[in-house]
Amino acid sequence: MNGIIDFHTHAFPDALAERAVQVLLEEGRKMYDVKAYLDGKVGSLLSSMDRSGIEKSVICSIATKPSQFDPIFAWSKQIHSARIEPFPSIHPDDPKAAERVSLVKDKGLKGIKFHPYYQNFALDDERLFPIYRQLEREQLIVVVHTGFDLAFERVRRADPLMIIRVLDRFPDLKLVTTHLGSWEDWEEVEKHIMGRNIYMEISFSLDCMDRETARKIILNHPQDHVLFGSDSPWADQEQAITLLESLDLGKDRERRILRENALKLLAAV
Ligand SMILES: [Zn+2]
Repeated sequence: MNGIIDFHTHAFPDALAERAVQVLLEEGRKMYDVKAYLDGKVGSLLSSMDRSGIEKSVICSIATKPSQFDPIFAWSKQIHSARIEPFPSIHPDDPKAAERVSLVKDKGLKGIKFHPYYQNFALDDERLFPIYRQLEREQLIVVVHTGFDLAFERVRRADPLMIIRVLDRFPDLKLVTTHLGSWEDWEEVEKHIMGRNIYMEISFSLDCMDRETARKIILNHPQDHVLFGSDSPWADQEQAITLLESLDLGKDRERRILRENALKLLAAV
């Protein structure tokens, strides 16, 4: 199968999925009209992938406290398959954070996820440096929520200037920014990170901005540094693909975004 790779999805253990989706929806809805398109179970994600021609999905977990590493890691190992690439989550306050990076690598997983709002840190905070150093050493991928978050107040936690500060200090860090560089901070994206060798995943962005801005950012970015992501279940995978295609970026660039760039990035771990 030569399918699409979705670099940004969420799912939960079956027993917790319904409740997790409901709680997160309630949080998000305080500020934004967010919907859930799936029930949060891995089986439902797989059915959605079948419908959409998606071969592989990266599932991004978020540990909101250090003790959640163990259950998330155990579940991640359990669901890891040819079609599901789980990225567990390490909390920055975890005293064992750096060694957990190596543990994740040793078990054959390819990356982790950070979320500066749910995990209460700023991207360029020095307490993250030992973790970044270890990620760089192990060459593990780190997907980070960047830009504002629809469920939180607009305090800057992971904006383009912070992204640059981290990458200047850790140039070999395989950092994947989300939401086309930074959610609802696309002027700053254009100013500071567009055109640089920084991975950008495109989820939850194309329908939050005008088409010309989206095209401008993608077409001016290195073509091997843009990745497809849907943020399912908060968006529909099939609709996310249609939205990307509607930008008319050209078949070659589209294929790289939908599959080849992610394939290369994952294969390098
Ligand atoms: Zn997400």
